[in-house]
Amino acid sequence: MASMQEWTERAGKVLPAGGFGNFDPGIVIREGHGAHVWDEDGAEYIDYLIGSGPMIVGHSHPEVVEVVTEQVAKGFTFFANNASGIELAEEITDAVACAEQVRFVSTGSEADMYAMRLARAHTGRDKIMKFEGGYHGMSSEGLMSLAPTKLVNFPQAMPDSAGIPAAVRDNMIVAPFNDLEMARQLLAEYADEIACVIVEPLQRLIPPAPGFLEMLRTETTRHGIVLIFDEVVTGFRLAYGGAQQKYGVVPDICTLGKAIGGGFPLAAIAGKSDIMAHFDAKKVGADGFTTQIGTLSGNPVASVAGLKTLEILKRPGSYDHIFACGRTLMEALATHLGAAGIPHRVVGDPVMFDVVFVDHEVRDYRNIMKGNAARAAKFNSLIRERGILKSPSKHYISLALSDEDIAHTVNAIAESAKLLD
Ligand code: PMP
Repeated sequence: MASMQEWTERAGKVLPAGGFGNFDPGIVIREGHGAHVWDEDGAEYIDYLIGSGPMIVGHSHPEVVEVVTEQVAKGFTFFANNASGIELAEEITDAVACAEQVRFVSTGSEADMYAMRLARAHTGRDKIMKFEGGYHGMSSEGLMSLAPTKLVNFPQAMPDSAGIPAAVRDNMIVAPFNDLEMARQLLAEYADEIACVIVEPLQRLIPPAPGFLEMLRTETTRHGIVLIFDEVVTGFRLAYGGAQQKYGVVPDICTLGKAIGGGFPLAAIAGKSDIMAHFDAKKVGADGFTTQIGTLSGNPVASVAGLKTLEILKRPGSYDHIFACGRTLMEALATHLGAAGIPHRVVGDPVMFDVVFVDHEVRDYRNIMKGNAARAAKFNSLIRERGILKSPSKHYISLALSDEDIAHTVNAIAESAKLLD
């Protein structure tokens, strides 16, 4: 068997930047079971990366393996409608408040791209309002002010990628997350030009300030603007019904991904029937029709994996366990970094959170940007050495974590906090 070093060298030759573009290419994962993954050298980690979110019930969950294996024996993808995809759409419309109808795609990026296009088709307007630091996939619009290193005045947008025509930037309005007054003013000023507001209801790690989502709901309704919640991360995670259930604010459309595909490529646009009607030429006519086709959309392997994942999440006690694990770790971070005298804030929700090395409240992207990045990198590397795998900016909690995993992680946090300077 090749070592991780050998795999990394081979990757360096055939993959730009030596990787898939997602994560530290210095680690090559061989397999995952429950809350644990193993790298190609056989080192074991407690996994808080969970595939960047989809593996919320743990890796290769036996019940998911069973339904996927059964489906694989019956065919992988048909392009035509299939029963499990229809069932998954029904489950989503039952669970998610804004979801009267559902259209499947393969990635969150696609879902966000179509959601924004639907809003433009529905309103006949071009401009899109988003919040600095909000993640809405890799479309030209999504890449505006996603993680800018150069800060410009609001509402100007900054592209986070080369290769985007200037015209895209001219159609964006960027505001700081959680600034109620500025968002309200911009919405009033550009009211007749804005097709949609797209927002992560909990932006990356930052919870919405009291009244922020409610204000967006009121003002978008007032100005005839489509409100899109990007629930690719928060859907079926903050609560079974997503952020819209937890915060009690219902958008016009939401996008879903990660959890609903159970680890397979599946994402969705879900929303009010009058807006989803733009996917139906018979309802809206040629002028209003929004073309939408995808080879793998709603494929049955992803659909059965998603359905089983949701069934497991829905069982009594699932979210209680996830929240309890997350709360223990959030408290451990605060306690041990506090005892070590390291300025910090633990930001997020028990299902996903991280420590930000700042000495002020975190309400928006610029607050996070001021964090001590070198200290964060050191902390992440210290806990990695102690067998904890996580993204550079997030711990994701899975249902598969045991008390022993949590105790081990608390210990790793305690030891690492003492070694920070
Ligand atoms: N929206 C949000 C909030 C996300 O976090 C992500 C992925 N990290 C996406 C959209 C894009 O999803 P995908 O990577 O499946 O394209």
